[in-house]
Amino acid sequence: MSQPILQIRDLQVEYATPNGPALAVSDVSLDLHEGEFLAVVGESGCGKSTLLFAIAQLLTYPASVTGGSVVFEGVDLTSLTPEELRQHRWRDISVVMQSAMNALNPTLTIGAQLADACEAHTDWDHERIAERSAEVLSMVSIDPVHLRSYPFQLSGGMRQRAMIAMALLLEPKLVIMDEPTSALDVVAQRLLMRQVETLRRELGFSVLFVTHDMSVVSHFSDRLAVMYAGEVVELGATRAVFDNPQHPYSQGLMEAFPSLLGEVRELTGIPGNPPSLVNPPPGCFFAARCPHATDECRELRPELVTNDEHAVRCHLINKVARV
Ligand code: SF4
Repeated sequence: MSQPILQIRDLQVEYATPNGPALAVSDVSLDLHEGEFLAVVGESGCGKSTLLFAIAQLLTYPASVTGGSVVFEGVDLTSLTPEELRQHRWRDISVVMQSAMNALNPTLTIGAQLADACEAHTDWDHERIAERSAEVLSMVSIDPVHLRSYPFQLSGGMRQRAMIAMALLLEPKLVIMDEPTSALDVVAQRLLMRQVETLRRELGFSVLFVTHDMSVVSHFSDRLAVMYAGEVVELGATRAVFDNPQHPYSQGLMEAFPSLLGEVRELTGIPGNPPSLVNPPPGCFFAARCPHATDECRELRPELVTNDEHAVRCHLINKVARV
């Protein structure tokens, strides 16, 4: 496998709350390789979007990185000044936000917003900006005539594709996507994912993709990181995690969404709620909801242990792996 372009080590993010700091992301370590598509999945509030914002260095108060590092091509982004970070944004790393309607400026045309980004990050003249803007819109199957359109004149799927066009303006090596399909219907979701996949293969950028919807990433990601209560509880090749989820929480997630192939089965949820992140329990964060929890689980926090390129944070699995 290629060298990682992104190395996240022991990353920790806290939110300041009136009751004390809430540990939103806890000891997350991940590598992302050149051209790889890594999906981060988990239920709402598990810390996946906070993790992406921490990687992109876009957190604002009350959230802050309180430990660990985010090294992109040898540079620790957590140590850079805002001006130094600006040099990396768009050129090296770009972000596609959850809701294009909120992320796009409703008072400017798509062309004006593309031009703003170019003017802020390049010394291109008007002709070059117009040429590149038309090019990236065509790349996402939007007729360049829409450079003169305002966001409200585009459909939801087109707006989201326009966001992807903006993210690709300066040919970044890493595109971070925060639930870009969540506001789209199933057909538009599938079209958008196919487009991202085609562009990734053609242009070679890496994708870090956050979603709560397992079915969105099941066919498109190379690897899957499952997050629960701010921790990565399972990490492995997407096919391996789908075919043989090992952490009890991942197993519960798989049971909670329908498969298009195979037998029709009854869907089940995961009873209970995640723990308080202000006063997290001493042992496994999933213990209160886990059907296999033991006294050891309630007292001792499991480590993320890698076995044959598949990492799991569970006493039960790790004991079996050691036998
Ligand atoms: Fe369940 Fe224990 Fe594994 Fe946690 S460590 S997931 S409580 S079996």
